[in-house]
Amino acid sequence: GAVVHWFKNDLRTADNRALRAASEAASKAGVPLVTMYLVSPEDFEAHLTSPVRVDFTIRNLKVLKEELAKLDIPLYVETVEKRKDIPGRIQELLEEWDASHLYTNMEYEVDELRREAKLVRALAEKDISMDVMHDTVVVPPGTLTTGAGNQYAVYTPWYRAWVAHVHAHPHLLELFDPPAKNHVSARTKFKDLFASRVPDAPANKRITKDEAERFRALWPAGEHEAAKRLEMFCEEKVGKYTAARNLPAETGTSSLSAHFSAGTLSTRTAIRMARDRNKTKKLNAGNESIQRWISEIAWRDFYKHVLARWPYVCMNKPFKPEYANISWSYDAAHFAAWCEGRTGFPIVDAAMRQLNHVGWMHNRCRMIVASFLAKDLLIDWRMGEKYFMGHLIDGDFASNNGGWGFAASVGVDPQPYFRIFNPLLQSEKFDPDGEYIRKWVPELKGVKGDAVHEPYGRGAGPEAKKKGYPEPIVEHKGARERALAAYKKGISSD
Ligand code: FAD
Repeated sequence: GAVVHWFKNDLRTADNRALRAASEAASKAGVPLVTMYLVSPEDFEAHLTSPVRVDFTIRNLKVLKEELAKLDIPLYVETVEKRKDIPGRIQELLEEWDASHLYTNMEYEVDELRREAKLVRALAEKDISMDVMHDTVVVPPGTLTTGAGNQYAVYTPWYRAWVAHVHAHPHLLELFDPPAKNHVSARTKFKDLFASRVPDAPANKRITKDEAERFRALWPAGEHEAAKRLEMFCEEKVGKYTAARNLPAETGTSSLSAHFSAGTLSTRTAIRMARDRNKTKKLNAGNESIQRWISEIAWRDFYKHVLARWPYVCMNKPFKPEYANISWSYDAAHFAAWCEGRTGFPIVDAAMRQLNHVGWMHNRCRMIVASFLAKDLLIDWRMGEKYFMGHLIDGDFASNNGGWGFAASVGVDPQPYFRIFNPLLQSEKFDPDGEYIRKWVPELKGVKGDAVHEPYGRGAGPEAKKKGYPEPIVEHKGARERALAAYKKGISSD
């Protein structure tokens, strides 16, 4: 016999609820723990998973396989071409391993929930039980409701309820031990699984050699690297988070999102470590910056709760139905300029080039470029949402959808549609010295002073032109008027 854990976005041994539960069940039954991960090129395609994310996943799996092997636990990774074949293949593997029990952590997207429901039923017929557990969230979706019994659609009251709930249920921040070591006999029994290799990225998600080297250096993989980054951030940065978090030229944020998304780090662990540097165990007291960082992590929970309650946001629909009637532009040249960082708005271009080069973008810039696409260019925000998924290393459906919904004013707790970011003011406020712009837009490296925010309007036009930096593709004031009119018309046509 055997008990099996199915890894998904939880690629770690530490503080992994379902993995720990599987380990305990295996020990109790006196059978080995076996683990698996299924690579599905079709799933990658359907979810627009970025090549940088796929590369990170494969590298994380390699580290994880080694970690588990130290505990005599095999990790078997297989490529299953068609996503619809996944449940059937899992069933076959479980039968092959004579497994009685399957454990996995829950994913809250519609496709995944349906797949799991189907699998639970199919396995029950074979007398194999399956447990799907809450792990990526601190507080499970559905737990927190407004006085009227509904899911919160506004963050602040939701966060108040979240904090109160965590204070009242301190076990929610208790960490799970790593799995226990298997009996060494597992080594012989599952010899083939130990000997198996983690496959390369599927052909639809390959990256170039250059990219591979760059990503390896920028994003070291595995749970130990995640823990190291967390410790460093807590040691050096978390106390100054409030002041530094909005400045993209500084490394004032943790850059841990890739690890949270891959599950190489749990949010429980991160919140615990930050909280333990505070003088109080309360999440809403003590050091302001620590409180702030914890409340940012909680956004992950918020957007997962929203997704679980209103699954139609997974189906290409805006959260607010009246926003489905806005006449978006599908100007291909504008969209290409945005994607490639050639809009002539330096802060926007710097941000898009950062994304394209490293697979990550600073949060302030995500808001700026998203607002610019949806409002200044009036381009369908879903095109931006997809582009982000296709290029982010931390691409997470709920957070990305939530972020786009916020910036395009169509989501839960959005920026009101009439509040339109002025890219120039954003640039001056959050990149005051133009350091971020000069780093990512080499054409503007030599531009002195404030002209870097607006070269053509501030006397640096000839220099910018000579270096090939484009003129602005729209004029903000006019674009703003156009957006206001389009939003107003869309909403009232309902
Ligand atoms: P830190 O400032 O150190 O924050 C710590 C953690 O808190 C982050 O790692 C992240 O897990 C979480 N967090 C912080 N802000 C948010 C937020 N607004 N929403 C959800 N979680 C948050 N985040 C993703 O993880 N994946 C995405 O695909 C994603 N897409 C986004 C798209 C748009 C348009 C916007 C505006 C935001 C998006 N975010 C997304 C949220 C946020 O920008 C990133 O989580 C953050 O920039 C990651 O950097 P960090 O780890 O240094 O963050």
